[in-house]
Order: sequence, then structure tokens, then C-alpha cells
Amino acid sequence: MPCDVLYYFWVKVLPCPECSAEVDLRSSYVFARHAYVKRNPRAQVLCPGCHGVFPAQYSDESVDCPACELRFDPRVGPVRRSKARCGGCGAEFPVAKTACAMGKPPGHRLYAKLVLRRDGTRQYLPATSEDLHAYALAGRRLRSMKPPKPEVQIQDGHNTRQVLSYGYSSWDQMFNDRQRLALAILADGIRKLEPCAERDALMLLFSGVLEFNNMFASYKGEGTGAVRHMFSHHVLKPERTPIEANLWGTPKSSGSFSTLFRSRLLRALDYKQAPFEVAVDRRDGKTRGRKVFGLSPPMGGFLLDRYPEEGLPAGSVYLSCGDSARGVIPCSERSGAHGSARSVSTKPGASCRRTTYA
Ligand SMILES: [Zn+2]
Ligand SMILES: [Zn+2]
Repeated sequence: MPCDVLYYFWVKVLPCPECSAEVDLRSSYVFARHAYVKRNPRAQVLCPGCHGVFPAQYSDESVDCPACELRFDPRVGPVRRSKARCGGCGAEFPVAKTACAMGKPPGHRLYAKLVLRRDGTRQYLPATSEDLHAYALAGRRLRSMKPPKPEVQIQDGHNTRQVLSYGYSSWDQMFNDRQRLALAILADGIRKLEPCAERDALMLLFSGVLEFNNMFASYKGEGTGAVRHMFSHHVLKPERTPIEANLWGTPKSSGSFSTLFRSRLLRALDYKQAPFEVAVDRRDGKTRGRKVFGLSPPMGGFLLDRYPEEGLPAGSVYLSCGDSARGVIPCSERSGAHGSARSVSTKPGASCRRTTYA
């Protein structure tokens, strides 16, 4: 029975420098667990013998594969810290140095998937030849489409050194073929819309989708937002066991276009129409947040392309991009501005300052 795949599980691989056997760069054979493992100790284990997947307890020190009867410690994978051990010849080799010597990032092997069944339940399954065929098909379609790709070299810097030392050299290497295909189709669909504010909002959402749909994203587990996006670390950490999410998404997806559309864009529009502040209630020794509406008027208004000398007319919005230290609006005008006009000043970089006059 066909059903949607929520997530594909990949592992980085390197050829052993001694015998060329492919070595999984994983430190554990437990590939999925609950975010609150003490309360929910059930985990999913990959068998290194037959590549089957089966459930076990997270704390298990020894498991028997139900398919091939191999007994092994699921907590111990071929990688320990920065070194990997080849299961074929037993040679130990440094991961980053070996990848860097190849002049390209390590390859990836698809080994499992989480599917959403028709009855709403989820099931972990091993990757099959059909999965590999579907992936290869996506690659062929991508190459025939020839979409624009961000072939920009990664510059040397404090936060890029780690990926450079893993053999990465350009940003497009952070996505797999199917992710690039889905992103290309989505971007093309948005680009074809009439230029308008809604199209800009969808393009902004597309940018957010990139964070969750790349080969630096990983699996947080069950009982939480499943995808840990690539910027959850303050460095570009090459992920040894990345997760490929369903980019368009299902109602049960995390980090997909359709779920972020609801959780980010629709939520932002709700806030725009009815802004609120959060008040803190302390009752019975407990602290709770409560939304207080009506303190600010709904956002929006007509946009001005320059700040008028006589001050902002009521209901207008002025946006300025520049150095916020320079202050785009004189203080005297700020104090004199009344009504519902707003000024938004944004500074290049991370900080954004908004001044509202109500
Ligand atoms: Zn097995
Ligand atoms: Zn070897």
C-alpha cells in the first residue's frame, strides 16, 4: 500500500584507505529515539550485518537482530570521536583527513525511512531497492531540468573551517539531488506568480525551508519537532547521520513548506491583524503566559518610499535599510509623531529595530 515517507535516514560513508571497503561514519547503531528517553525508552536500531531495522530499548547494551540473529552492542558504531574503524580489515583512519584527501565531501548511504501509514501511525523501515531507484530517478530529473544552482565557493573563515576540512568546497554540496530537485520545483512555482507582497512572503518562507531541508539537518527524535535544522549549531557542523525530510510535507511533518506555511506565515498574518503582548500570571505557585490583545493597533498601512519632512501621516509605514546607529528619523520628529503611523528601520546584519508610534 503506497504511503508518504516522512523522513529518509542517511549516513555519511568513506572508503577505507587500506581496503577500499565502504565505512559508515556513525558512532552508534541507534538511529532514532524519543526526545524524552527516560519516559519513552523505545529506540530504533540498524543491524550492521543485514542492514535491517528493529526496535530495542535505548539502554540495551546487547541486542540480537531478529532477521540475521547477529548479536551486537548498538551503542558502538565504526566511528569514535574523529576516527573510524573499518569493519572489513580493522584499519583505523582519521575521518576529516581522509575526506579532505579525497578532495570532496564523504558520500551518503540511504539506510532507513519513517513512513506515515494510512491509519496515521508511523513505521520505521529499512531502505529498499525501490527507495534507491526513486532517489536515482530524482537525480536524473534534476540533471534534465538543469535548474540554477548556488555554485558559490565556501570562503575560509572561523565558522566554515570545519566543513572545508571535511572536503566541502561549495554551498550546493550541502543538499542532495532530491532536495535540490524539490527546491527547484518549489522556487520555480513561486517565481512564476505575479510579483506581489504574497509572492515575496512565499519566497521568504522558501528561505526558511532551506534551513530544514539539507544534508546538515538531523533527527531530534520522536515527541518533539523532528528535524534539527542546520543552524541549531553555531558552526557548520558536517552531520554524519543527516535526515532528509519530506520537503512539501504531510500534516505530521516538521520543517516542511506546508507546515511552515501554517506555523510561520499564517501565524504572522494573525499577529499582524491582532497584535498581542504577553502578560505573566502567577497563580497557585505556577507561572503562566497570557496573551493580551488590543494594546497595539493592527499592523499595516500604506508604504512610503521616503520619510516626509512634515512627519509620517497616520496609517503610513516608512521602511529604511541602513545603519541604525545613524538614526533615520530625528528624535524631535519621533516625539512629535502621533497617530498610528509606523517607522521601521532595519540595519544590515542580525539586528532589526522597529519603532512604533501609536
Ligand atoms: Zn541483521
Ligand atoms: Zn578496510
